[in-house]
Amino acid sequence: MTSASPLILRAEEVTRVYGRGDTAFSALRGVSLDVRTGESLAIVGKSGSGKSTLMHLLALLDRPTSGRIEVEGQDAATLRPRELNRLRNATFGFVFQQFFLAATQTVAENVSLPLTIAGVPARERQRRTMEALDALGLADKARNRAADLSGGQKQRVVIARALVGEPQVVFADEPTGNLDSATGGQVEDILFGLQRERGITLVVVTHDEELAARCDRAVTIADGLIAGRTPASAPTGGIR
Ligand code: ADP
Ligand code: MG
Repeated sequence: MTSASPLILRAEEVTRVYGRGDTAFSALRGVSLDVRTGESLAIVGKSGSGKSTLMHLLALLDRPTSGRIEVEGQDAATLRPRELNRLRNATFGFVFQQFFLAATQTVAENVSLPLTIAGVPARERQRRTMEALDALGLADKARNRAADLSGGQKQRVVIARALVGEPQVVFADEPTGNLDSATGGQVEDILFGLQRERGITLVVVTHDEELAARCDRAVTIADGLIAGRTPASAPTGGIR
């Protein structure tokens, strides 16, 4: 990955206001950000600063109040809901704390869910599910109930589920937040391994400075604005 890699995502002066009238709250107040294919980008900042809001906008899970989001140069606002869903399914994988596993379903059922939603035929679904479980060292857990796994194993299932659709971008919101540091380190190694070996673009929200430091770049959000960028400027000066 270099600053010459093509752009995969661009946020252009995005704002996000929650609520209206007296209770309106500006969670993002004008953020511009480029994400290049194959890079790892950390979004850091205090709780409530707007990190998750920004990630949801980049991941097309939410729309900006003003400004625009582009995916490979295409303005997301021009997409119909069905096209948007298809693009999100085909392009993105999610490792979010709030995207819970279905506790009573098996590991394999949880991992294959995005393929089921995408209408992939059963045989192909099974093949890709086992491939993803293999990659995460979970092949022997395929038939276990998700509820019966340890925290680290559950997070690996979430990563397998994020990967099964062969995404170009993986969004991770506090991926190690609920894990002890050894298990968290293993999950980080897996994520960065995917970036390195598969060229997956990683966008990681974290308040863990060590995790942020492992990323190619970090942006700091404070009160809905970008308050800092590390490194401060790219060699070309062109990256935002
Ligand atoms: P972070 O991920 O940095 O902790 P968030 O992006 O989740 O921050 O939230 C930014 C601000 O927006 C916070 O003050 C939060 O309370 C507020 N907020 C987030 N989601 C909503 C919502 N759905 N409705 C109203 N306010 C919200
Ligand atoms: Mg958050």
